[in-house]
Amino acid sequence: MQIDRHVHAIKVPFRILTPQGFVDRFVYVYLIYGTHGVCLIDTGVASAAEPIFNYLRSTDRKVSDISLIIQTHAHPDHIGASRTIKGETGCAVAAHPAERAWIENVQLQARERPVPDFDTLVAGSLAVNRLLGDGEVFDLGCGLKLNVLYTPGHSRGSLSILLLGYHVLFSGDAIPVPGELPIYEDVLASVASIKKLKAVKDIRFLLPSWDEPSKGAAAYERMDAGLEYLQRVHDAVRRCSLQSSDLDPQELSECVLQDLGLPPGLANPLVARTVAAHLSVRDQKVII
Ligand SMILES: [Zn+2]
Repeated sequence: MQIDRHVHAIKVPFRILTPQGFVDRFVYVYLIYGTHGVCLIDTGVASAAEPIFNYLRSTDRKVSDISLIIQTHAHPDHIGASRTIKGETGCAVAAHPAERAWIENVQLQARERPVPDFDTLVAGSLAVNRLLGDGEVFDLGCGLKLNVLYTPGHSRGSLSILLLGYHVLFSGDAIPVPGELPIYEDVLASVASIKKLKAVKDIRFLLPSWDEPSKGAAAYERMDAGLEYLQRVHDAVRRCSLQSSDLDPQELSECVLQDLGLPPGLANPLVARTVAAHLSVRDQKVII
């Protein structure tokens, strides 16, 4: 679907096989169409390569037009099809230095951050050609410029990307979605990152990976809702950990999910990491 003059979105549905059975999910892949090349913001899961190629053909572009993939971060549902697309097109791949090791060695990532069904989600490892830092400006040609915003918290090297002049913000997984499993590594960094995004003026489109696109004022409301959710999770972690001090990480995660109105059975090591991030700042009552 076309979002703006140069920006397109592809919603990629996928299923993850977990110990509790199949879980249906989706992730958005975004495409920026320049006069010559096409830049992808993430590539979804491994099965997204064909839908991306088909979308390009259906909009009178060629697969070989893909000249650049910018990875908001290294998680499986963001780098899944990158190896296939890079192999097909020879495009460059850009990411933050802190994400590089997990993109270039996906088995290392699978060991250090086990995700159910990892090998189905990710086509394989690939080289990162360009390292990105906060404030960098990318010139895509034909008047399209991207500003790189360093927005860690969900992961150490998470990036958001602003399409300058068009006020389109790609936020990756930087903004947590209320009612979804809370997954991040550093909660205070997440808070700071969302506030940094809120400070971007006149956003016309907010384009996250795990949530629907939103427009204008609704974009800022999403960010506020994300901040409030972080505080709710924090309150839940404080309640559960203060109630009983002898819970192991799994039991504590189950208690937190129950407190949030989510099925406790969804507790897993990723949620436990989120809970640990909150515990490290438990003395702080208000975090947003
Ligand atoms: Zn992620």
